[in-house]
Amino acid sequence: MAAFAFPPAAQAQLDIAGTDEKFPVRRIYCIGKNYVAHIIEMNADERDPPVIFMKPSDAIVTNGGEIPYPVFTTNFHYECELVVALKSGGYNIPEAEASSHIYGYAVGLDMTRRDHQANALAKGLPWEVTKGFDHSAPVGPITRASDCGILTSGHVKLAVNGQVKQDADISLMIWKVDEIIAKLSEQHRLMAGDIIMTGTPAGVGAVVTGDVLECSVDGLQPMQVRIGGKAA
Ligand code: MN
Repeated sequence: MAAFAFPPAAQAQLDIAGTDEKFPVRRIYCIGKNYVAHIIEMNADERDPPVIFMKPSDAIVTNGGEIPYPVFTTNFHYECELVVALKSGGYNIPEAEASSHIYGYAVGLDMTRRDHQANALAKGLPWEVTKGFDHSAPVGPITRASDCGILTSGHVKLAVNGQVKQDADISLMIWKVDEIIAKLSEQHRLMAGDIIMTGTPAGVGAVVTGDVLECSVDGLQPMQVRIGGKAA
């Protein structure tokens, strides 16, 4: 095999609770508009179907890390979400088989340049600038489904500097996890290492440099990240 012209980028990875093994992240799929109360707070139509977008895997920030305040925004928002991690995949996965592809779960943040999202929505522009920038995907350690079971309920919760801003039950998702996996696999061949951010409940808001974000989902390892200074 020919040598690379320069060293390839490092494989994005997540800790796994209870083992020294790492979870290698392939793609980060995200679901938007998956909780009615959040759709209403965004002044969108709650009858709209959930939307699918992606973040690059090297946007991952791990537990205890720092998110530099990004360039190109003055309205930087958190969205706390349940993250589903896959151990296998395929096309057209039936809903009834979806949970057999789940490796585990984590809590994550779909960080968002909200000012640019408004512009993208108004002008029909793509979402990379809004959702797919550097450090836009903090994700906590993965808890294996073999340890926590298949999750269908439990609180997803976020506090900023100790003050709770988001707290809702994951059973309130419009598309449940099994439906998300089935729907996604109609459009993309899902594979081991893919992770899915399943949408945020109501209570999103802006953060500033120095804020500490604590995120949790009942039964999973929590995550804490800090908002750093302006990205250089
Ligand atoms: Mn989101």
